[in-house]
Amino acid sequence: MTAIDDGTLISRNPATLAEVGRSPSLTGPALDAVVARARAAQPAWAADFSARRAALRAAAEAITAKSGELASLLTAEQGKPLAEAGQELWVAAHAFATLAGTAWEPEQSLTASLGRPVTVQHRPYGVVAAIVPWNFPLYLAAAKIAPALLAGNTVVAKPAESVSLAVSAFVDVLRTVLPDGVLEVVTGGPETGRQLIDHPGVRMVSFTGSTPVGRNIMAQAAATLTPVALELGGNDPAILLPDADLADAAARLSAGAFLNAGQMCIAPKRIYVPEPQAAEFAEALAARAQRTVGDGADPATTMGPLHNARQREIVTGMLGRALDSGARVVTGGVREHALPGHFLDPTVLVGAGDGDDIVREEQFGPVLPVVGYRDLDAVLRTLDAQEYGLGASVWSDDADAASAVAERIDAGTVWINQHNALDVAVPFGGVKASGFGREGGAAGVEEFTTTRVLDPRPAT
Ligand code: NAD
Repeated sequence: MTAIDDGTLISRNPATLAEVGRSPSLTGPALDAVVARARAAQPAWAADFSARRAALRAAAEAITAKSGELASLLTAEQGKPLAEAGQELWVAAHAFATLAGTAWEPEQSLTASLGRPVTVQHRPYGVVAAIVPWNFPLYLAAAKIAPALLAGNTVVAKPAESVSLAVSAFVDVLRTVLPDGVLEVVTGGPETGRQLIDHPGVRMVSFTGSTPVGRNIMAQAAATLTPVALELGGNDPAILLPDADLADAAARLSAGAFLNAGQMCIAPKRIYVPEPQAAEFAEALAARAQRTVGDGADPATTMGPLHNARQREIVTGMLGRALDSGARVVTGGVREHALPGHFLDPTVLVGAGDGDDIVREEQFGPVLPVVGYRDLDAVLRTLDAQEYGLGASVWSDDADAASAVAERIDAGTVWINQHNALDVAVPFGGVKASGFGREGGAAGVEEFTTTRVLDPRPAT
């Protein structure tokens, strides 16, 4: 993505670098008009809960009906293979359908427990700004839009500038089944995001993206005391215990690690393996890591390019430094590709450790270090001292041993014998520098509400 002088955003195909299309950068009065429409629509939208549930169901059907076209645009603009784009559309539709049926009620009576007529109302904030990144732009937008709408808010979505076309097209599809003004989109860069956060018409900000931007958003929102929910970066560890099934772990972890070319907040990013098994496991992983890397629009492609040049520089920079300090590539590494895009092959690395930034920091790419360990307690202490806490996994044939280790990991989700298994019916989010607030299930709907209590003096 590049911006030209008048602020117009140009989307480029990450595989071919060809222009995909252009979007306006909305700021100032144009952005005010969008927020005003969302504000005007909100009271009527909040008034009818069953109509909202029905609208979410209709939204799921509308996405499904248009998923082919939306998937093609997503692949062209984001880079992922068509099959993965189709899966993202499926999950987005599923999010609306699941939320439509979630066991959440906007009111709760405490009369029975208190013996007096107290009602707790979970009320919408008003207009919610949903600021989303480029890696799973449609699903991550859906993961905010569906619960925020169910709770009775109206939503202004702000996609990452490089996926403006796909998110705008997705919103257009949703708008065919929603009343005017209930869902709006503003395209633009960080300045558009900042103006939304400061906007007096915006009453809550839900953000998914990087930790540094999350910090900026929280600081900025402090000025107006606008509530924020932050789904931030991660650097998920997978920990194999000595009795883990190595072949099964290699198959499942490679599937998770190289999905979307590793650009997934909850991808396994480093695998801790007992030292005596590390070499054997790395070989098994390398065998499972083979992909046909190319343009996502080619049906033969099983892994697309990285989304942009900067992301590729970050990942290859970390890889280069690890190699300089003695790590070794088992498979993959940097090579020339036929197309001019931001390609990097799936790469398995051995010999890197927590002293290397490719292990310690979020790399957000298709490089998977296998880290041999001798002392599990030392691994857990190191993880505890590090900044992220999004996901983690423990692998073992002994369910009790795996649970005991899982209990010692400070993260939003700890999986056992699987990784990045996402279910919109289940609360999802991070701790520490991975943020706070939850999406998914009833807890995720609650996130988009504030509480009003009705407490009348009991009749005597
Ligand atoms: P990013 O933080 O650069 O941008 C995210 C969004 O914020 C974009 O829409 C961008 O335009 C906007 N933005 C940037 N600066 C802003 C500012 N100052 N004020 C308001 N808005 C601003 O993230 P990215 O590079 O698009 O995405 C990758 C990151 O997202 C990774 O760190 C990844 O881990 C994280 N992520 C987290 C989750 C999660 O659920 N925890 C999910 C996916 C991605």
